[in-house]
Amino acid sequence: MENGSLYELLGVKSTATTVEIKAAYRKKAMKYHPVSKNPNDPEAHAKFQEIAAAYEVLVDDQAREMYDQYGLDGLSGGGGGPGFSPEDLFEHLFAGGSFGGFGGGGGGRRKRRGSDSTIPYEVSLQDLYQGKTVKMQIEKTVVCATCSGSGGKPGTKPKQCSRCEGEGVIMTTRSVGGANVGFARIACPQCKGSGMTIREKDRCKKCKGEKTTKEKKRLELQIEPGMPDEYHIVLHGEGDQEPEMTPGDVIFVLKCKEHDAFERAGADLLAHVRITLSEALLGFSRVVLTHLDGRGIRFDSRAQEGGKKIYKSGDTVVIRGEGMPIWKKDAPRRASGAPVEKGDLFILFEVEMPDEGWLDTVDVQALRAMLPPGKPDLQASIVDEAKFEPSDIALFGDGDDAWEDDEFDETEDTQCRNQ
Ligand SMILES: [Zn+2]
Ligand SMILES: [Zn+2]
Repeated sequence: MENGSLYELLGVKSTATTVEIKAAYRKKAMKYHPVSKNPNDPEAHAKFQEIAAAYEVLVDDQAREMYDQYGLDGLSGGGGGPGFSPEDLFEHLFAGGSFGGFGGGGGGRRKRRGSDSTIPYEVSLQDLYQGKTVKMQIEKTVVCATCSGSGGKPGTKPKQCSRCEGEGVIMTTRSVGGANVGFARIACPQCKGSGMTIREKDRCKKCKGEKTTKEKKRLELQIEPGMPDEYHIVLHGEGDQEPEMTPGDVIFVLKCKEHDAFERAGADLLAHVRITLSEALLGFSRVVLTHLDGRGIRFDSRAQEGGKKIYKSGDTVVIRGEGMPIWKKDAPRRASGAPVEKGDLFILFEVEMPDEGWLDTVDVQALRAMLPPGKPDLQASIVDEAKFEPSDIALFGDGDDAWEDDEFDETEDTQCRNQ
């Protein structure tokens, strides 16, 4: 069983809060309850036990931390050796009693893997377009160099942990909904599962018996041209170190900042360009935007079929090959390292209407004569004069009490999930 599967059993994310875990457990336990729901279904019974065991671990902060860090091994105190399937473990976790021969502490402890550190890293769209090498310094935990992670002075021997009597694990009683459902084994918090502690006077001077120290470490982050937003750059083995543990990874998650001029969707870019009424009617040729690498992009509205085109707000053109580099691990690249292929650049035009003051500066009669004429009346037998005020289209339908907002939201949710 993979690390993380206790969360899957309950159907929650690994970031779930205790409240979410409790709610998920209640829902699942109701579904699989062997007495009330599934009296003759041994599978449902087993499932019910698994769910309860998963809940016991995840609802307990200490047990959950051990599980997150060490997986099921953290709960079985380094058992997990040959002959112990996850089902066995659950049985021991859940059934109550019969701990004999399980784990037994000490011998054959498997090398654990440290947890990964996930660090969000904010980047600009320019950086994702052009690529960037970021040098940074992080503080990380390393195995103490003075005592090589023993925590003791040279020549001293650690003694058996008093809390777990050298077993590395302790048992705790657990109850679900007030009923005692058995025992759980968690790694001993006093010796962190090692079964050994060091006398105060024997402790290493450098790490004070902690076995690890903090150290500044330089890291280099390669942001490649075209990398997607939310991309995970994994630096293998750069996570915190613990004795007898394979360090986890440091994972940088790219978070793209919003850009003033461009929106990104995959390899495509979108820019909004505002043009004047005169430009919309009569055409224009000018540098309309600055690309992410600083190049100006000239746009000649007459450089298309017929040469005449009146632009309306919402009109769109596409410039092929001026989008983001198409980033793939094995994409063909230029000497600079940037992928050869690029997506497209869409331009969405918006026509700026002149403000009212402009009318005072022109001959309105002459202008009216030049512009296309107004429209005639619609035919109607009764005509009322409109009394109106400025408004906002967002208010359309707002005054209608017949809408039940909550119900409406729920329907929407369901539809989204089903798509
Ligand atoms: Zn030390
Ligand atoms: Zn202990």
